[in-house]
Amino acid sequence: MGEKSRGTGGGGAHGSASADGPKATRRAVLIGGAAAVLGGGVLAREELSWVWRKVSVGHKPRKDGELDYLPAQWVAASSANWRMADRPDDYRIDRVVIHVVQGSYAVALQVFKDPGHGAAAHYVVRKDGHVAQMIRELDVAYHAGNRGYNERSIGIEHEGFVEKPEDFTDTMYRSSARLTADICHRYGIPVDREHIVGHVEVPGTDHTDPGKNWNWDRYMRFVREESARQKTARARAE
Ligand SMILES: [Zn+2]
Repeated sequence: MGEKSRGTGGGGAHGSASADGPKATRRAVLIGGAAAVLGGGVLAREELSWVWRKVSVGHKPRKDGELDYLPAQWVAASSANWRMADRPDDYRIDRVVIHVVQGSYAVALQVFKDPGHGAAAHYVVRKDGHVAQMIRELDVAYHAGNRGYNERSIGIEHEGFVEKPEDFTDTMYRSSARLTADICHRYGIPVDREHIVGHVEVPGTDHTDPGKNWNWDRYMRFVREESARQKTARARAE
C-alpha cells in the first residue's frame, strides 16, 4: 500500500486496482466467451473467470488454508485481488516487495478481503510480529501496481504509517526479516537491496511506501542474520 492511498475509502489502504487486474479480466472474458458460445448461454463473470483458470493455470494441487510460511496464520484475501498462477514454474520469483499499510493490521486484512479493493499482498505483518498469509505464493497478488513486478514478486505489508517512525518496531522488523529470509531461501533470491525492494522502487509506481522512516540498514541486517540462523538450523536438522 502506501502514502498515496491515505484518506481514500478503507482507512488508507491501497486505493486503486493494480495494472494487471483489468487485463486479467479481459483475458478471462475472451477465453470464457468461447465457452459461453459452446454452452449456448451467457456465463456469469465468476464462471468466466473459473473457466479461464481451469484452462490456463492451476495445475498444482492446492488445499484450503495451506501455508507457504508455516509460522503465519491463514486469512484468505478476496479472489478478486489476485490471480491464480503456478509460480515459480510459470513466472520466476526473484523479488520481495516491502509495503507499509498506512493503517492498522486489521484494516489491511479487511480491505484485502474486500473484492472491490482490487489489490492485496501475500503477507501482512503486525507490530507485535504476528504474520498473516492471505494469498498463496504460487499465485500473483496485485500489490506492486506493475504487472511484471506482481508476477515476479512476493509482497509483504507492514502495519503502521510511513510518517510514524515509532510504528516500525524491532519486533516487526525481526518478524518480517524472518519471513523474507525464508522466502529468499526457498526461491534462491539473493539477500540484497536489488532483490528486496520497497514499493516506491517498483518502476512506474505512484506509491511512496515504505517511506523514509523505514530503516533499510536495520532491516537488511536482520534479514542477513535470520538467513544465517535459518541456514544453521537447517544444517543441524540434517
Ligand atoms: Zn505499497
